Amino acid sequence: MDCLFCKIAEGKIPTQAVYEDERVYAFPDIHPQAPVHVLIVPREHIASIEKAEKHHAELLGHMLRAAAEIARQKGLGKGYRVVTNVGPDGGQTVDHLHFHVLGGRAMTWPPG
Ligand code: AMP
Ligand code: ZN
Repeated sequence: MDCLFCKIAEGKIPTQAVYEDERVYAFPDIHPQAPVHVLIVPREHIASIEKAEKHHAELLGHMLRAAAEIARQKGLGKGYRVVTNVGPDGGQTVDHLHFHVLGGRAMTWPPG
C-alpha cells in the first residue's frame, strides 16, 4: 500500500518527531495553519475515524492523550484545538487517520 503517513510513521520519509511511542507518531504539518501545527498518526493504517473499529477505541483515546501531551510540551497553556477531518466534505486529503493539534494563536469558530 502506498500511504504517505505509513511511510512517515515507519521513518521511510524523514520528519522531525515531536512525540512517538509504540502506537503513535507525531510530526510537524508541512503547511502549518498556526504557529504550532502537529499531526498525530497511529502506526497502524486506519483510513479515517470512519474506518475505526470497536477494538480501536483504546488507540483513539491514546491519540487524544498524546495530543494533550504534545500541547503541554509545546507550551500551549492558553489552549489549542484537536481536529480530525473525515472524507471530502470534511476536507480530508490524506487517507490515513490523523489528528491535527493546532495552537499558538486564538482559533476562530465555526471552522470553515
Ligand atoms: P487533512 O487535509 O486533514 O487530510 O490533513 C493532511 C495534512 O497533511 C495537511 O495539513 C498537509 O499539510 C499535511 N501534509 C501533507 N504532506 C505532508 C508531509 N509530507 N509532511 C507533513 N505534513 C504533510
Ligand atoms: Zn497509512
